[in-house]
Amino acid sequence: MRENAKKTAANEARLLKKKAIVDGRIAAATEERGVTILLTGNGKGKSSSGFGTMARAIGHGQKCAVIQFIKGRKETGEQLFFGSHPQVEFHVMGHGFSWETRNPELEKQAAEQAWELAKGLLSNPEVHFILLDEITYMYKYGHLEVDDLLAALAARPAHQNVMMTGRTAPRLLLDSVDTHSKVENERHAFANGVKAQVGIEW
Ligand code: ATP
Ligand code: MG
Repeated sequence: MRENAKKTAANEARLLKKKAIVDGRIAAATEERGVTILLTGNGKGKSSSGFGTMARAIGHGQKCAVIQFIKGRKETGEQLFFGSHPQVEFHVMGHGFSWETRNPELEKQAAEQAWELAKGLLSNPEVHFILLDEITYMYKYGHLEVDDLLAALAARPAHQNVMMTGRTAPRLLLDSVDTHSKVENERHAFANGVKAQVGIEW
């Protein structure tokens, strides 16, 4: 019994110590500004995390925008849902880039047009949250210049939050964002022959 009491006291002391550390960090995080978030990796959950975060921002009345730099094959649930939302500006990159057809010239043209839209959003103080979905591939394929993205991110309105996704990203971008999470693939149903499902994959 006495041993148990000792253990409980030690545990409480450890928890208090942990709490003091966390409280200290919370107190030290005083900078108020928007952040850049990058989600990479081969696991499932990057774009859906971007849309989930956008739902949060919408809930708080913020004006949001999405640019999808890779066109999915089908009409996606996210476009059907958010595309008609009054707080959301939703763009899917025009012709060119899809996983099915590859035409480098058309792709580059479409990427440049989408980037023009992105630049406009990144300089618009009314837009609080921007999702640049699958943008990282544009640098991998040489359609856009990462320096242009870094410059636009650095010059954006101070309160604006920007999320970017793609399996891999250029080193310069990885090194410059405020938050970077890598979603690892531990297992995916597809590998065991499960067909892509509406409402899950698109
Ligand atoms: P989601 O949009 O579901 O969050 P994601 O953005 O993380 O997925 P992408 O790399 O953009 O994933 O790939 C897009 C598509 O590929 C989605 O339909 C997703 O379910 C599927 N996918 C993601 N990871 C894997 C994987 N490891 N194996 C097979 N398919 C995957
Ligand atoms: Mg994705």
